Amino acid sequence: MIPYGRQNISAADIRNVVKVLKSDFLTQGPQVTKFEKEFSNYVGSTYSVASNSATSSLHLACLALGLSSKDVVWTSPISFVATSNAAIYCGAKVKFIDIDANTFNLCPKNLKKELEKAAKTNSLPKIVIPVHLCGQSADMKKIYALSKKYKFKIIEDASHAVGGSHYGSKIGSCQYSDIAVFSFHPVKIITSGEGGMSCTNKRVLADKMRLLMSHGITRDPKKLLTKEVGGWYYEQLELGFNYRLTDIQAALGSSQLKRVDTFVKKRNILAKRYIKLLSSLPLDLPAVNDYNYSSFHLFVIRIPQNLKNKRREIFEDLKKSGIGVNVHYIPIYKHPFYQNAFNKVSEKNFPNAENYYSRAISIPLYPDLSFSDQQKVVAAITSSIANYL
Ligand SMILES: *Cc1c(COP(=O)(O)O)cnc(C)c1O
Repeated sequence: MIPYGRQNISAADIRNVVKVLKSDFLTQGPQVTKFEKEFSNYVGSTYSVASNSATSSLHLACLALGLSSKDVVWTSPISFVATSNAAIYCGAKVKFIDIDANTFNLCPKNLKKELEKAAKTNSLPKIVIPVHLCGQSADMKKIYALSKKYKFKIIEDASHAVGGSHYGSKIGSCQYSDIAVFSFHPVKIITSGEGGMSCTNKRVLADKMRLLMSHGITRDPKKLLTKEVGGWYYEQLELGFNYRLTDIQAALGSSQLKRVDTFVKKRNILAKRYIKLLSSLPLDLPAVNDYNYSSFHLFVIRIPQNLKNKRREIFEDLKKSGIGVNVHYIPIYKHPFYQNAFNKVSEKNFPNAENYYSRAISIPLYPDLSFSDQQKVVAAITSSIANYL
């Protein structure tokens, strides 16, 4: 089976992890701080706060922005469920905004339309979470301009997008957002086994996320309410969590971060090659806007409109040929939990998400995918489609 995604682990990665295993600290040692600093340097953010997953980081980001049960979060329906679950953990409601038909990211035009409506009914969102699907940034300039007018906060779900850039700035520099969140799950661009990172340029947000990441406990003499008790003393100031990244994971993350540009470059070369090899087939292929550099976490082909009822057959054919295909994603509102939580969200509100979902197949893409394996993927797609033309 050629998988749809796979990590790349080097001898140096293994050496760096083993070094931590032989050291005094497996967690809460020097590695996490080092990884956070390196990550901030890489993306160009003032602060980075590591956690044990992007899911945890999204939750912390919502809490740091003061999300509560009185609030609504707006996001894209084409994402992993973790994006909207983070809002629900805080007791908030979620509203989905349909995607752009070309980039599959949250559509600024639809967002504007819905904001105009919500302004009249006093139901504006507290936070909007654009998702950089497949590694291509959403149109952040437009979303940011709307946030100034309608006074909402922005969390970028950049889980797919480590190493990508937008108008020449690295994703994570938070030029057009309050917080950007990354995932280090093994199928993503770089990995720490499990892990997440929140980047921000705002000190209060970084401090709050750090506090809540470890039980809401502080030992910082400046923050303690009772001073001068003794060396053992700490205080829990708020209800937090154990969302800590370990030093073992951080060492792997640091070591991987050194190769992020190489990984993304390889992904882009392979993506270009797919586009060339697949261009003669009746397929819709991904397009990247000229102001974006995509990290190409995923390569999604779309079955043409007239063969859309054959998506399932084509998917199963590819599986049978040993190609690890996948579908990213089932629109979140379709999941039973969301249907129950939001009284049957109507599919009619999401024509672009529905159209995308009915045609999408993710095909294998990862830095070590060989040209010959890529050729096999293309041959399998070619022969499957020929069955249905
Ligand atoms: C992977 C992913 C997440 C969750 O990341 P974890 O690190 O596995 O918690 C959230 N959002 C999107 C878009 C993702 O792809």
